[in-house]
Amino acid sequence: MNICVVGTGYVGLVTGAVFADLGNDVLCVDNDAAKVESLRAGQMPIYEPGLEEMVARNVADGRLSFTTDLTAAVRRSVIVFITVGTPPKPDGQTDLSAVEDVARVIGQAMERYTVVANKSTVPIGTGEFVREVIEKHQLYPIPFDVVSNPEFLREGSAIEDTLRPDRIVIGAPTQQVAMTLLELYAPLERPMIITDVPSAEMIKYASNAFLSTKISFINAIANICELGGADVTQVMKGMGLDARIGSAFLSAGLGYGGSCFPKDTDSLVHTASGLGYDFALLRSVVEINRDRASHFVDLITKALNPLAGRAIAVLGLAFKPNTDDMREAKSVEVIERLLELGASVRVYDPVAMTAARRMLPAAVTYCESPYEAATGADAVALVTEWNEFKFLNLERLRAAMRRPVVFDGRNLWEPERMRRLGFEYHSIGRRSVLPTQS
Ligand code: NAD
Repeated sequence: MNICVVGTGYVGLVTGAVFADLGNDVLCVDNDAAKVESLRAGQMPIYEPGLEEMVARNVADGRLSFTTDLTAAVRRSVIVFITVGTPPKPDGQTDLSAVEDVARVIGQAMERYTVVANKSTVPIGTGEFVREVIEKHQLYPIPFDVVSNPEFLREGSAIEDTLRPDRIVIGAPTQQVAMTLLELYAPLERPMIITDVPSAEMIKYASNAFLSTKISFINAIANICELGGADVTQVMKGMGLDARIGSAFLSAGLGYGGSCFPKDTDSLVHTASGLGYDFALLRSVVEINRDRASHFVDLITKALNPLAGRAIAVLGLAFKPNTDDMREAKSVEVIERLLELGASVRVYDPVAMTAARRMLPAAVTYCESPYEAATGADAVALVTEWNEFKFLNLERLRAAMRRPVVFDGRNLWEPERMRRLGFEYHSIGRRSVLPTQS
């Protein structure tokens, strides 16, 4: 099948590569000419395990190519996927300008029946909006359909998630239109659900809002554990084994970040409000999440008091492990606050250092390894739970530090082990290991 994918970000590039791998002819379009150039040269704009190999294989086999020419791409395609960014506006509303730009060009370019499938995360009603924009810009009436095909991949496991999604959601105006996408996805042999367009749009937001709620819920429980002397990791285990609850997304820590959960929760609150419903539950979820970074910095401040003049090694900068994405990363807020309070900050991340340089204040010192970051530090603050950190040589880390104090924002290490190793250890929703106890 001839397909074009508009937007070569996390979603578009991975989607394009996987569809090509399934044997389709895929043209990936982006209006960022430099990005298209580097993709043509075999350089990936993002870090995603397995992506570079998959792209290279399909480019070499002639099934995958890159262009800035959306008009030509639309004219050769049976299905046009929209995967451009839908960032938040300051009031939480979703900025649909990129989707609108693409819809306009699709309308102008269309020469025969085309299915336009929207993969970008967009509020209910956007399918109808895209239809109107296309219709308005057609030179003469040509039939087309707009489908909602929301994307659920996770950065860091995007290829695996796209090859083996839990479900494929196809929101289509008719069964016949849905069949085009069913046929495309059939080789994956995964469960597919066909809905109307607004319901598919809502499934995406409702899913992300629910997962965000689980995260904020356990973080609120962690706050209570800290006050009442319980251990949130034990609470999580006890809750998660209940089949009705499950343990996924039930880890206490610094809260959610990234390019999806923060903006999607804000957007759903905004959409609900626009429709006349005050989504107070989700507003609380957002608020609890916003407090996480300052809660962590308060923990650090209280233990190191005063913070001014202290050297803090921050381990992990990406918003989560296995990605170099720094969008809405908790590290940014934590580091900004530490600097404001007079600390000096040395940082290390296995893959996000380049992306971090564009986001972090100039005062930060970048280090080549966790041990270099910890050298002479008054404390280590773990922000992103990379596997590499789980298996650190903690004796070596301690030996490099001026004071053996660790703040674990993701409960990566075990308090008992940290006590044995001679650390003062503070984590989330658990009793601190203090020097007098060691
Ligand atoms: P991204 O910012 O990584 O990529 C978007 C791409 O679109 C960029 O390369 C940009 O240059 C391009 N673009 C913007 N305007 C364009 C235009 N007019 N014509 C052609 N190209 C244009 O975004 P992303 O993370 O891939 O997210 C895309 C959408 O998918 C968003 O709606 C997001 O919410 C959703 N989504 C993202 C994820 C994720 O994990 N990143 C997961 C599920 C859904």
